Amino acid sequence: MQEHTKIYIDGAWVPSTGSGSIEVFDSTNGEVIGTIPAGTAADVDAAAKAARAAFDGWAATSKEERAKYCSRIAEGLGARMDEIATIVTREAGMPKWLSLLVQAGLPINSFGTAAALAESYEYETTVGNSLVVREPVGVVGAITPWNYPLHQIAAKVAYALAAGCTIVLKPSEVAPLDAYVLAEIIHDVGLPAGVFNMVTGSGAEVGQAISEHPAIDMVSFTGSTRAGKAVAAAASGSLKRVALELGGKSANILLDDLDDAGFERAVRDGVGKAYINSGQTCTALTRMLVPAARLADAERIAQDEVESNYQPSDPFADGARLGPLSSQTQVDRVNSYIQKGIDEGAKLVTGGTGKPEGLEQGYYVKPTVFSDVRNDMTIAQEEIFGPVLSILPYDSDDAAVAIANDSPYGLSGGVWSGD
Ligand code: NDP
Repeated sequence: MQEHTKIYIDGAWVPSTGSGSIEVFDSTNGEVIGTIPAGTAADVDAAAKAARAAFDGWAATSKEERAKYCSRIAEGLGARMDEIATIVTREAGMPKWLSLLVQAGLPINSFGTAAALAESYEYETTVGNSLVVREPVGVVGAITPWNYPLHQIAAKVAYALAAGCTIVLKPSEVAPLDAYVLAEIIHDVGLPAGVFNMVTGSGAEVGQAISEHPAIDMVSFTGSTRAGKAVAAAASGSLKRVALELGGKSANILLDDLDDAGFERAVRDGVGKAYINSGQTCTALTRMLVPAARLADAERIAQDEVESNYQPSDPFADGARLGPLSSQTQVDRVNSYIQKGIDEGAKLVTGGTGKPEGLEQGYYVKPTVFSDVRNDMTIAQEEIFGPVLSILPYDSDDAAVAIANDSPYGLSGGVWSGD
């Protein structure tokens, strides 16, 4: 049980000006594993002012100095990998062995890459008679989600630091415990006060306050389209720069020139690409497009792959491939999408609504495959963020491309060919 009572502002752990706290749940059993302060707009104001005051000094440090801090943070993360992987597996549900590689590994990569970039980046270039000077944008607000929680934080914080920006971070209230580990590491490496600040709390209060704050020059957000629109609207009042990384409904096109072995390999791989991190991945390939003549083969192979290799289990168990979802909210969301798929007439190949057998506690759902899905069905149009694969038949390459592009989302995509 981690009871956090402080937030991090101006180089110190301080209490929030509010009195509320938020519970954090263990995805594997639904028990409370931690609490964090429900921060306030006043906390964001204090953090933004600290970041503003620190900016000129930090922006003026040498690139070697900034690289040194990024490298030290990477080392600090490296020393706590197992702890980070355990925390994120409890928060988000990814199998522990994979969490070690991805959830704990990628943040180290980000800080290492940022260190190298800080030193090698061309801050000044000459174009004709002009000198182009690239300067840090200022104070960056970072609002991050729960699916790859520390990775999403590192992918913003590391590069902002390397560029010479100062930061106000709001981690996801669903998965904030890993962010405390990072803040502790940042404190221990002695980053100058005010360069990195962290205010925990809800999107509605803390996220909104970051998006609106006039002293914050840019907001970088990853999460749902709904919240992304709210961030962009709130940011428009102060005309700050906005970077949004939102959802996906990516297509995986299996072309008709694949031989039988290639087709089988592509279907099995496609299940994995849809199910990684229990489908809680913005780039998940959730629409598999197959030649109509091979629809039955695709169903048979996908069903076998799911039932043989993707049965849900405790993510700490040996050989776990599919853990729980991150929250009860996500369980309800995913089950309601599965029900919609059934109601709208898609063919249920495997899975369905409800709890998998033997996993009544924890945020587990049944890995599900639908076939004969039409692209106008809800399950083909909306991001589900769970282990739910839709298989869609197509008649020609052009039709496949048209189906792939008939989506309000962008982000990712796959093509398999025998050539
Ligand atoms: P959100 O978009 O609500 O959460 C992402 C972050 O935004 C969180 O830190 C959240 O705060 C914050 N936030 C929420 N509302 C606001 C707001 N009005 N202003 C500023 N910040 C805000 O995602 P959900 O948790 O609701 O997930 C819903 C769906 O979003 C998922 O099912 C999935 O489809 C999609 N999603 C996509 C992600 C991606 O990587 N592309 C990542 C996560 C979700 P809080 O801590 O209160 O939640």
